Amino acid sequence: MATKKSAQKTASPARRKLTAKNPAGKKSPGPTLQPLPVLRIGLGFDIHPLIAGRKMMIGGVEIPFDKGPKGHSDGDPLLHAITDALLGAAGMGDMGAHFPDTDPRWAGASSEIFLIETMKGLSANHYEVVNLDCNLILERPKLAPHIEAVRRHIARILALSPERVSVKAKRHEGLDSLGRNEAVAAQAVVLLVRR
Ligand SMILES: [Zn+2]
Repeated sequence: MATKKSAQKTASPARRKLTAKNPAGKKSPGPTLQPLPVLRIGLGFDIHPLIAGRKMMIGGVEIPFDKGPKGHSDGDPLLHAITDALLGAAGMGDMGAHFPDTDPRWAGASSEIFLIETMKGLSANHYEVVNLDCNLILERPKLAPHIEAVRRHIARILALSPERVSVKAKRHEGLDSLGRNEAVAAQAVVLLVRR
C-alpha cells in the first residue's frame, strides 16, 4: 500500500490521468499519446436584397427567376457565406477585408473568384476542406430542382468530391423580409484539417 502511494506521488499529473486499471485490477499502460490533427471550424452567413433585373445566382448556378440578389459583385449569398466560413476557419479574417465592395475589380464579378482566391490562401497555409454544410434560405423559387447542380458546382469550385459538400434549402415560412421574398440568405459551416 505504502509503495503504491509513493509511486502515485512521483508520477507526473499527465501520467496519473492516463494510467487506468483494467477490470482485473492491474495497471494498463493507458492510451498512447498521439498528436491530434489540427481541425478548424468556420461559420459564414450572408444576406442580400432581391431586386428585379438581377440574375439569381446561387452557389455559382443561375436559377431562372424574375429577381436576383443585389450586390457589388454578382451577389451570390451562398458563395459569400462559404467564403466567409473558409476564411473564418483559417483565422484569415473575412470577405470584407479581402474583397471590399468598394474595389472596382469586384464590380459585377462572379463570386467564384472569391472562393478560388480563398482556396489558394488555404492551400498556402496547408489547410484542406474536410466537409462543408450550407443552408440557403429563399422563399421562391423552389430550389429543389437545382440543389444537386448547386452542390456539384460548389464541389467543383473547391476541387472536392461532392459527398463532402451539403446544400440544404429552407423557406422562411412567409416571415420577415426573407419570407416576403425581398431577400435571400445563406449559412455555411466548414471543417478544415491542417496537413
Ligand atoms: Zn454577400
